[in-house]
Amino acid sequence: MKATMKATMKTSMKTSMMDPTDNDGTDESVDEGVEADAVLADRIAGSIVGLAIGDALGYPHEFRTVAQVRREIGPAGLVDFVALKDRRFSRPIIVGTDHPPGTFTDDTQMSLAVAEALIVCGSEPDRDALMTEMAHRFVEWYFSDDNDRSPGAATGAACTALRDGTSWRDSGVKDSKGCGANMRVAPIGLYFDDLDTVADVARRCASITHGHPCGTEGAAAAAVCVALALRGASPPDIHAEVARRISGRAMALEALWSRIPWLLDRAPGEVLVALEDNPAGLGESWVAEEAIAAAMYCFWRHPDDFHACVVEAANTDGDSDSIACIAGSIVGARVGLAGLPPHLVSRVEKSKHLHDVAQRLAAARDRPR
Ligand SMILES: [Mg+2]
Repeated sequence: MKATMKATMKTSMKTSMMDPTDNDGTDESVDEGVEADAVLADRIAGSIVGLAIGDALGYPHEFRTVAQVRREIGPAGLVDFVALKDRRFSRPIIVGTDHPPGTFTDDTQMSLAVAEALIVCGSEPDRDALMTEMAHRFVEWYFSDDNDRSPGAATGAACTALRDGTSWRDSGVKDSKGCGANMRVAPIGLYFDDLDTVADVARRCASITHGHPCGTEGAAAAAVCVALALRGASPPDIHAEVARRISGRAMALEALWSRIPWLLDRAPGEVLVALEDNPAGLGESWVAEEAIAAAMYCFWRHPDDFHACVVEAANTDGDSDSIACIAGSIVGARVGLAGLPPHLVSRVEKSKHLHDVAQRLAAARDRPR
């Protein structure tokens, strides 16, 4: 961990958990460092497990409307994991394999690929090595049996080009800005200490598959949100910092981002709908700028309540798994693993593996760079 991040965590620990009158002569700085590391590791795990929970909660809701899910599952919608083709659904319009409750999708699978690449060579000063490793892992996943959970078209085209020898610098689909660009970058915000590096690496990561500025800037925004939530930053501060960083870079993203504070008191049913139905809302999130704006809206409304945040994000007419995955990564980084509902933590797919990845990511973060 770099000194700046550790100092922030130490200050946070000292003000929130230490007794200011405690002066027994012991070396407090060592204890504080250990406690700060423990808090950081808990928050990294909260984000990794949190994004998988959000993704798994939203998976059966993708391609289904709020009205349909409320009618068939219950008035509260999806508040717990259900199977992709739960028999209560009247129209199992999702083609392909059924999946049991708690199954996550390509969003988590690609996030894990990014995390593993960071663990292997995130500390290399040469970014080309890191991007090549990420691209390699994307191809490996894309052509594996695990890839049976509705990945986006641009990701498919890019992975095919990469397999056929195209460099990661040229593999991105030029004008594509699907939310596949930003639903996978949370580990970048968890790994790097410096916010410029977080944004830069997230943009490069997005560009492997998506070339449109809204895709690359949406990824920078998502990763910076996670990095700041990890430090315990407030939603207004996170919003302001991201606004500053995307300024002048992607008009459609800036437009949606700027309207979030004015929509916080409006219900999701009014805000997270197609822009054709409400031009003043945030859209259905099939594209990058709408997905990160929707996730930020849900996080800002529930910054300290993981379950309320991801339930709101998952129960939408649009790209439910991606909105809830991004929102889960941000709120999870803020509240930590201790703030996640144990009944979802224990039942999400590959729970033990998610914990393991988070632990290794936290350990890798300590490497001197
Ligand atoms: Mg997905």
